[in-house]
Amino acid sequence: MTILLMALFSVFLGSFYNVCIHRAMSGESIVYPPSHCPECRHPLAPLDLIPILSYIFLLGKCRYCKAKISIRYPIIELITAVLVLLLYNAYGLTWQFVSYTFLTGLLIIISFIDIEQQFIPNKLVVIGFIFGVLFSLAGFTTQFWNAILGLISGAGSLLIIGLVSLLVLRKEGMGGGDIKLLGVIGLFLGWKLTLLTLFVSIYIGGIFSIFLLLLGIKNKGEYIAFGPFISLASLIALLWGRDIIQWYVVSFL
Ligand SMILES: [Zn+2]
Repeated sequence: MTILLMALFSVFLGSFYNVCIHRAMSGESIVYPPSHCPECRHPLAPLDLIPILSYIFLLGKCRYCKAKISIRYPIIELITAVLVLLLYNAYGLTWQFVSYTFLTGLLIIISFIDIEQQFIPNKLVVIGFIFGVLFSLAGFTTQFWNAILGLISGAGSLLIIGLVSLLVLRKEGMGGGDIKLLGVIGLFLGWKLTLLTLFVSIYIGGIFSIFLLLLGIKNKGEYIAFGPFISLASLIALLWGRDIIQWYVVSFL
């Protein structure tokens, strides 16, 4: 029963993230104008706004002008549901769960904006920074000193990687947005899981980039957003990081 309610709550949360993403990219405000089709601007009825189901029943098209609705909408609702349920399973109904659900939402919004527009809005970084500090001060996530160490180790390590690639490879390797993003994640995760996030993101990012190049989806030298890899890695660290570190220590040290 709780799981069902949680699933229902999370798909609606996902739909809210969709609104945030759309409005952040189009520059519209979150509350005004009411939801409308981006193509014909027809206001949407409640029946058009049911997460996942509306997309299926409308066969991915606007009811009024038949313009294609981006597959991004149901995908984000699904991803949100899966992640919220995983977090609930790991943390139960606790403040930790609330804090990490908040972080997850922020990361979903940031990742999809980064994929489409290749940048991370500062406004979202600032929101993450403020809540990261507040949650740790309230004792919801990690101790305050650990949050600050997470911020420093996250932003610092990417800053160093960025500087090295700039000086040695004469190439801009790390965007400012990525540096700030891992800093914010550090505030929520503490230093250990943040460093794990860094390693995991480099692995997944590397493997995924090779696939994109091999499949010809991206060309050599073309920009591949790194924000989504950092986000994905931080969620892996959040859900399974302690086990991964434990396994590593037992196996290799
Ligand atoms: Zn339309």
